[in-house]
Amino acid sequence: MFTSIRGLSVLVTGGTKGIGKGLAAAFAAEGANVVIVGRDREAGERAAAELASEGGVVSFEPGDVSSAESCAEVVAATLARHGGLDIVCCNAGIFPSASLAEMTPEQLEEVLGVNLKGTFFAVQAALPALRSSGRGRVIVTSSITGPITGFSGWSHYGASKAGQLGFMRSAALELARSGITINAIMPGNIITEGLADLGPEYLATMEAAIPLGRLGSIEEIASAALFLATEEAAYITGQTLVIDGGQTIPESLEAMG
Ligand code: NAP
Repeated sequence: MFTSIRGLSVLVTGGTKGIGKGLAAAFAAEGANVVIVGRDREAGERAAAELASEGGVVSFEPGDVSSAESCAEVVAATLARHGGLDIVCCNAGIFPSASLAEMTPEQLEEVLGVNLKGTFFAVQAALPALRSSGRGRVIVTSSITGPITGFSGWSHYGASKAGQLGFMRSAALELARSGITINAIMPGNIITEGLADLGPEYLATMEAAIPLGRLGSIEEIASAALFLATEEAAYITGQTLVIDGGQTIPESLEAMG
């Protein structure tokens, strides 16, 4: 249905687990050459081996997106491996909970450092390669939490996810003349290892608040990202795509009918 992305070079930060691993799997299944990034070397190599065993070209590069130097090294490794870089998925993220009353400056810095500054650093590092590509794509994994909704204990997380959208809109203008698009996907509650850690009670409460009656799958997020990376999405930039089973629509539980 869409023009093939076979042979394109893709970098997925936070690609070793959860949504990012799903993004990597989806791009690899379409024949792209994928590099996944995370801090945990063992988990990363295991994930890359698993994805490669499914037939894709997937390898791991250790990196920490909260460091500009590390992002530059990861991009350099990708260029050495695949000769270019066409698509960057800024997906690495953390979501520790901390009440505003108790949050330390270090906790705030950590969340902003990974989720928000990490997005800046990854895009900055990839910029020359994306310009050379001629059809560069950046896909940011934001969230409904922050840009649309709030959640007690996640003010730092929500600020980081809303901040990613502010970054994206100005970046879209700066990158447009280089033929690079940048868009954000905004997942609702998606079943990942990270979300499962929040416990069965959290998951059940969430399901009850979602009009489609279930949490989303990693594959449902990946297919949206894949679309934004296609040739057919070349005229879409600076935009957001909410993928939440309708979670942000009802005014109240009563409104669900
Ligand atoms: P996850 O399962 O915990 O995976 C997070 C990934 O990010 C891992 O690969 C992790 O690897 C990597 N990572 C974390 N900090 C990093 C750093 N400093 N540098 C490089 N990699 C780092 O989380 P997830 O649920 O898939 O979430 C992925 C993204 O989706 C996040 O941006 C999150 O905010 C967003 N999101 C998730 C949901 C959801 O329902 N799951 C909803 C909305 C938005 P290492 O730990 O080895 O570094």
